[in-house]
Amino acid sequence: MRVFLILGAPASGKGSLAQMVEKKFALTHISTGDILRDSVFKETEIGLRVKDCTANGTLVDDSTVNGIVFARLQGEARDVLFDGFPRTLNQAIALDSFLSEKGFHLGLVVNLDVPTCVLENRVVNRRICSNVECRAIYNMTRRKTVVEGVCDLCMSPLKQRPDDTAQAFKTRMDVFATVYRPVLEYYSSKPNFRQVDGSALPDEVFNAVSSLYGEYV
Ligand code: AMP
Repeated sequence: MRVFLILGAPASGKGSLAQMVEKKFALTHISTGDILRDSVFKETEIGLRVKDCTANGTLVDDSTVNGIVFARLQGEARDVLFDGFPRTLNQAIALDSFLSEKGFHLGLVVNLDVPTCVLENRVVNRRICSNVECRAIYNMTRRKTVVEGVCDLCMSPLKQRPDDTAQAFKTRMDVFATVYRPVLEYYSSKPNFRQVDGSALPDEVFNAVSSLYGEYV
């Protein structure tokens, strides 16, 4: 099995890109943010523990996240695409150990590079489908729905993420600058790391990334 990664700052487009890549290349998309938000929604034991972090933009502890991720990987038959993981150096090192222990391989690692002023604008305009089975991601300026406020795919109402506020965005960018940067440095020295301009339109980013995936999948 191979594990592909999409890295990037908050609102850099990791989730939207992963949803497109998942369909085209038949990978299993695992978003730690989605899993954590689901557990909050379902008020599971983990959900109650991580609720504040996912709302205020701070990170959930490594052992909780690693536990969720490695349990998911155990039962997986297809190649996997992560978005939002790893987010700390400890998570990256734990992933490497897990892969070598299981004889799995690291595939392409893409970092979406987007200027901060663009990220802030995207956060304010981001809307997600409220249906947890769908989770389509829209943007009120870049990726609009046909009917305002309604998901094109499943017709459920759209909602704003609780951490897409100005205050939580600031916290998430602080976390990105301090904790996430070393993760980018860690992967940037690997031969399968690619930097992609994430400020382009979603289809343009997808086309650029697709041609890179073509070499791997
Ligand atoms: P995301 O949807 O990837 O932006 O993640 C939303 C929130 O979930 C983050 O702000 C964190 O609170 C939490 N989260 C997601 N992935 C991780 C991770 N790998 N490590 C720690 N916390 C995470």
